[in-house]
Amino acid sequence: MVAYRATPADATSGVRVGDVEYRGFPAAGAGVTGASPETQVAFFALLHDQDLRAPIAAFVRDDAGNEAKATFVDNVFPKPFKKSRIELEDKFIDRVVPEIIEHSPELKMTAPAQGSPEMIAAFLKVNSELRTINADQIAAFAAKTSPNKLWDGPFVQLGNSQVEASFADHRTYFYKGKEVDQQTHLGFDLAVTSRVPVVAANAGTVMNASWLGIYGNCVILDHGMGVQSLYGHLSSFDVKVGDTVTRGQTIGRSGMTGLAGGDHLHFTMLVGGRMVNPVEWWDAHWIADRVQRKLGEAR
Ligand SMILES: [Zn+2]
Repeated sequence: MVAYRATPADATSGVRVGDVEYRGFPAAGAGVTGASPETQVAFFALLHDQDLRAPIAAFVRDDAGNEAKATFVDNVFPKPFKKSRIELEDKFIDRVVPEIIEHSPELKMTAPAQGSPEMIAAFLKVNSELRTINADQIAAFAAKTSPNKLWDGPFVQLGNSQVEASFADHRTYFYKGKEVDQQTHLGFDLAVTSRVPVVAANAGTVMNASWLGIYGNCVILDHGMGVQSLYGHLSSFDVKVGDTVTRGQTIGRSGMTGLAGGDHLHFTMLVGGRMVNPVEWWDAHWIADRVQRKLGEAR
């Protein structure tokens, strides 16, 4: 997060990382009392697949397209990502693929019969094409974010959960001994037991509480200023679109809907509609240093 001043106050401003732009919002919406209208706050991210040398700059642009910019990030550190191997079994694809296709008219296809040799091709379409369509659908929720920071303090992780997959794990898929696909897993897989209560990681409003492609029954919460969180594979919902939630409030139960091999929660944070590593958001020290301290200084 960065706090900055941009003039005139009504010009478009934010942070650009490589070719991705993140909007700035008036700092008053983050509780910065006495902030001038020029003082803005922007949350931004270097994405898992962006170059470490991608330029990061705060920018302000007027209606004529004139732009001023300022750099402010000195150090970017590499982060190694895990690699994993996934063996696809007929039992798994027969269970998940037809249900996902039935719920996903955007794929414009009908499900092959159980046990048919076409099932693996249908799985690959779901795993790549539908995954991309879903990423765009998820990104679209960023446009509806609140201009106010609705949350406070660290985000909470699903209690007592075992981490089964981490952010940006690179997965290679095998079927009958042959490599058939590669994808990047953009979230954390957290398992406890079946149908455990899934809680809101922080305060916000409900943007989505319905089936969302490979994520099955999926809740997306808006925390304001482009920060959102996603909860996938739920078995049931306890909230509906438009509800206001508090941190720790139950929003649904874990499950195995969508592309899930067993009961677990798929959790990710979103910044400007892009999936980002939740690890920092769970860290009280990071939130205090990278967000609260800067808001205090902006005051
Ligand atoms: Zn997952």
